[in-house]
Order: sequence, then C-alpha cells, then structure tokens
Amino acid sequence: MLKIENLHVAVGDKPILKGLDLEVPAGEVHAIMGPNGAGKSTLAHALGGRPGYDVTDGSVAFAGEDLFDMEPHERAANGLFLGFQYPVEIPGVSMLQFLRESLNAQRRTRGEEDLSGAEFIKLARGQAEALGLPADMLKRPVNVGFSGGEKKRAEMVQMGIMDPKFAVLDETDSGLDIDALKAVGEGINRIMRAQNKGVLLITHYQRLLNYVKPDKVHILVAGRIVKTGGPELALELEEEGYAEVMA
Ligand code: ADP
Ligand code: MG
Ligand code: MG
Repeated sequence: MLKIENLHVAVGDKPILKGLDLEVPAGEVHAIMGPNGAGKSTLAHALGGRPGYDVTDGSVAFAGEDLFDMEPHERAANGLFLGFQYPVEIPGVSMLQFLRESLNAQRRTRGEEDLSGAEFIKLARGQAEALGLPADMLKRPVNVGFSGGEKKRAEMVQMGIMDPKFAVLDETDSGLDIDALKAVGEGINRIMRAQNKGVLLITHYQRLLNYVKPDKVHILVAGRIVKTGGPELALELEEEGYAEVMA
C-alpha cells in the first residue's frame, strides 16, 4: 500500500529525513513515535507534497504507483488522506460546502461525476452521526470556534466522507480529552482498519494506541527509523523514555 525507500527530504538547505525506509501493507496500522524535531511532521508534509519540503533522494510507491509523480491534488484523489495537528479554520465557508466541494473535486480528478446534493447530505449526516457530532455543526464555518475535540471529530467526518485508501495522521491525538480520543480511535478503526485500508499514525503518546492497536511501532530519530517493534514498544517508550529504549 505504502512503500517508502531511502527517503531523503530537505527543508531549505537542511536535510531532515536521511534515508527513511518504511512499508505499510493494506489493512495495517503503523505508529511512528519519536522525539521532538525527529522529522515526523516533515514525513507527513513530504508525502502530501507540501511546497518547501524537497525530496532529494529515495522513492515512495503508493498503491503501486510513484507518489512523487503525482501532484498533491492527485495524491488526494488517488486515496491519500492527511490529517494535521492544527486543522485550518475557514471563516465564511460551511463544513458542508467545504466537504462537498472537496469530495467532488476528488471525484472529478478521478473522472467520476459529482455526487448529487441529496446523496451528499445523506453521506455527511451518516458520518457525523457515527462520530457523535451533531449534524447541525456541519452548517457552521469550517473549524471556526470548534473545540479541539470537535475539530478532530470533524476531521474524522471528513475522512469518512473522502473514504481514502491510506491515512497519514500527524498528532491527531494532541490535546484531546478521553471521550474525543475514544471517538477518534473508533473512527480510525471503522473507516480505515475495518475496511482493509492503511494508516500511518504519528503520535507522541501511547494513549491513542489503546484505542487503535498498531500492527507495528517505529521509532524515528534524526530522520531515520532506528527501531521497529510491536505495540509493546510504545508502552516501553512511555515507561522508560527514548534514551533507555534506544540504549
Ligand atoms: P517532529 O514532527 O518530529 O517534531 P519536524 O518534522 O516538525 O519534527 O521537524 C524536524 C526538523 O525540521 C526540526 O529541526 C525543524 O526545526 C525542521 N523544520 C521542519 N519544518 C521546517 C520549516 N518549514 N522550516 C524550517 N525548519 C523546519
Ligand atoms: Mg514538532
Ligand atoms: Mg511534528
């Protein structure tokens, strides 16, 4: 599903990722943990094709295709979903407008027809309900005045509507209370894991992994994966810290 080989990424002139290898098969959830500044968010940005993150070496195959041959909007249309720690607020554009336009833009890129208004509303309401987000919230401007938990639930609604093949979620658990954490975890399981999709879960903390059990945990330090293990590795890290686990 996602195969990263010898990935090197520079920001400006500064090399950040220095030969990263990682393979996530369909149906698996892999967690990436690592100290601040290790390059976790840089990996997410590079996969998404954010300007300023220069791929200087290596390759990424996504569902059998060369990811770096695709424009960012093509990556999304082909099923790559990115979730970031700080979702953007868009005053003046309702969640419904935003989600409908995003979905139809992706459908057009894939050569599919737009979803009708009625079909879209049904889809959006179903996803909101599944996330425990009142359907009325979808009429509000994107993320404006949403609590941290509401923003993350809204992001899961977006993920459910887009129905991606693969999701890269960067610190999606930061600042969430237990109820929101559980809702987000259930969302990831329902939308992705249960559908044989792939997930790369970037997180500082073990607690989200109580709800979304990873198949593998990778530790990223200074631009490289330095250790890979099972879910127990995350517990070890939480108890002993990076220094001890890396020793
Ligand atoms: P992590 O997410 O693991 O905490 P990041 O990928 O955010 O790490 O950052 C890795 C390194 O790259 C840090 O030293 C950071 O300062 C640097 N970096 C990331 N993005 C930028 C940027 N846009 N401009 C300058 N430096 C950056
Ligand atoms: Mg950081
Ligand atoms: Mg980060």
